[in-house]
Amino acid sequence: MGKTLAEKIIGTRAQKEVSAGQIVLVNVDVCLTQDGTGPLAIRQLQKINLEKAANPKRTVLFLDHAAPSPRRELANDHITIRRFAQKTGACLSEVGEGVCHQIIAESYLNPGEILIGADSHTCTGGALCAFATGMGSTDVAVGIALGKTWLRVPETFKVEVDGKFQPGVYPKDLILHLIGTIGADGATYKALEFCGETIEKMSMSGRMTLSNMAVEAGAKAGLIASDQITKEFLRKQGRVSKFKKIVADQDAVYERTIQINASELTPQVAFPHTVDNVKSIDQARGIKIDQVFIGTCTNGRLEDLKVASQIIKGGKKHPKTRMIVVPASKTVFLDAMRAGYIKTFVEFGAAILAPGCGPCVGVHEGILGDGEACLSTMNRNFKGRMGNPEGFIYLASPATAAATAIAGEIADPREFLVKKRFKKTAKKKKSSRRL
Ligand code: SF4
Repeated sequence: MGKTLAEKIIGTRAQKEVSAGQIVLVNVDVCLTQDGTGPLAIRQLQKINLEKAANPKRTVLFLDHAAPSPRRELANDHITIRRFAQKTGACLSEVGEGVCHQIIAESYLNPGEILIGADSHTCTGGALCAFATGMGSTDVAVGIALGKTWLRVPETFKVEVDGKFQPGVYPKDLILHLIGTIGADGATYKALEFCGETIEKMSMSGRMTLSNMAVEAGAKAGLIASDQITKEFLRKQGRVSKFKKIVADQDAVYERTIQINASELTPQVAFPHTVDNVKSIDQARGIKIDQVFIGTCTNGRLEDLKVASQIIKGGKKHPKTRMIVVPASKTVFLDAMRAGYIKTFVEFGAAILAPGCGPCVGVHEGILGDGEACLSTMNRNFKGRMGNPEGFIYLASPATAAATAIAGEIADPREFLVKKRFKKTAKKKKSSRRL
């Protein structure tokens, strides 16, 4: 019987043939914790006298959620993490380096590997065709110490996407559409396997947006076959030797197949307070927005900042709307500076924060006031997510976020792109007349 991507990867690391439903013990390749979950994992290991890392070079402790630390207790948690790293030789990703999932993709994870992380969006690594999944701190603690974990091999939903996105429509719109269709619990403990011509042509950045939000439909993993795009990504990161081609078998067994035509999609917006409360831009436009936030492990990459900066360039931020931009990693920040995107954001009036989670988790750097609304490129909009249960969070693509920052209300990015194109053509015509 043919194998899905999940069955192939887990089978290789379990060193036996596996199929959906089986519970297996696997070797873990990479482990991660962040500053919210790391101290819990460390305390568990201290309690059972197992304060060690089986594979320190591939155990990564991130300081990204509350970094720089906003409070004394959190600063003390950072100390606990730094001490554990020093004692065990585990890697420490310091304040300012960036969001765990972005750095794991940039510097650690390879196709065919298993990553367990004490953070729900660990599934982002599925874009590299690794079985990457979030677990509780205790499970990850044991994985860190022993280099093994147990998994139930998930059944897989095949998400087949064909067609070309219209200008102004992006992978974020695709994943919001999918979650809106199947629901926030529509794929509980399943693996989502994204495939089809749209995915084959999609950049690694777009693929990471899809895999990142797999867990928002309840999925255990969000996997994409490794191909030339994966190889090129690894080459840029200096790890091309780690490339491995992994594709699902033609006769793999899927629990469900979902087909989506990308060319029919419009910009999507998830309304408060659930990520599956998704509506088309036509139903969202006109809603007043106090804060626009571009960043996170979902949409804080160079490609995201490029799209947003192209829309705002030369435009004016709405006086009643503030804008926060957080590059997902130091590398993204530097690349965005070189490309001029950061200058564009600053001139526009955005506040640029240090690479990390920024206001996403609601502990600092952009907590909403009572009754305020934020349009964010993040992946969650639960009540209180941005630090105030009286706030309202709308989720959308970086393009929609940029258009909204200009309009002061939720706006359709396609209109801004059309205006830009029109201006460019007019300018060209004018200069050719002069010649
Ligand atoms: Fe979690 Fe947000 Fe940080 Fe991503 S950016 S890891 S969703 S807090």
